[in-house]
Amino acid sequence: MTESPSKMLIDVQNNIAAAAKRAQRDTDDINLIAVSKTRSSEEIIPLLEQGHKSFGENRVQEAMEKWPALRSQYDGIELHCIGQLQSNKAAEAIAIFDVIHSLDRISLLKALAKEMKKADKYIPCFLQINIGDEEQKGGCAVKDIAKLLEAATNAGIPIIGLMCIPPADIEAAPFFALLAKLADEYDLPNLSMGMSSDYETALSIGATHIRVGTALFGSRIRNAE
Ligand SMILES: *Cc1c(COP(=O)(O)O)cnc(C)c1O
Repeated sequence: MTESPSKMLIDVQNNIAAAAKRAQRDTDDINLIAVSKTRSSEEIIPLLEQGHKSFGENRVQEAMEKWPALRSQYDGIELHCIGQLQSNKAAEAIAIFDVIHSLDRISLLKALAKEMKKADKYIPCFLQINIGDEEQKGGCAVKDIAKLLEAATNAGIPIIGLMCIPPADIEAAPFFALLAKLADEYDLPNLSMGMSSDYETALSIGATHIRVGTALFGSRIRNAE
């Protein structure tokens, strides 16, 4: 393979290092998830060649089309499910993903619990929170977190943190701060928040997992929100 190394990856890594330093945080505590939805394997390979291991996809089908082949070529890949998940895709999701960021409702929780038990594979999950209380958006309502968390505990699903996608076009920081406060309240150690436009802000507020697509790969032609 003669892929040219990604300067965008180096730039993002440098920005993370600088933001971590400003926030007096250890860069080892920050997981950069390269969001590779809509990107071809040819676009992904330069990052793998540079040693990047952590990637995010938002569709089960697309992940299954791309990642088995890449996994056969590169060791240590960690694949994160960051998109809305349908209950009938639970088995496939557990088979292909290492971490799920979008657990947001009891019906999905039940489906995942059943398939995790069947596969004897209990993968770590984030609870996705509808942090801006937006009608059209996925995510668990803030008032329902305790209930969902209790159901997850009862089902043996490891919940490692909270995830959010703040409302578009307004300042994200207050929503990040609210998510951080909630994670603290429920004693959850990880925060999945921050995308290309605001990952440095998220980092300053305690993000442990930032999900970055455009800043690593350029703008998406196909819209896959
Ligand atoms: C697409 C997507 C991202 C990445 O967005 P960019 O703005 O391209 O960095 C992050 N999180 C989720 C849930 C996404 O769907």
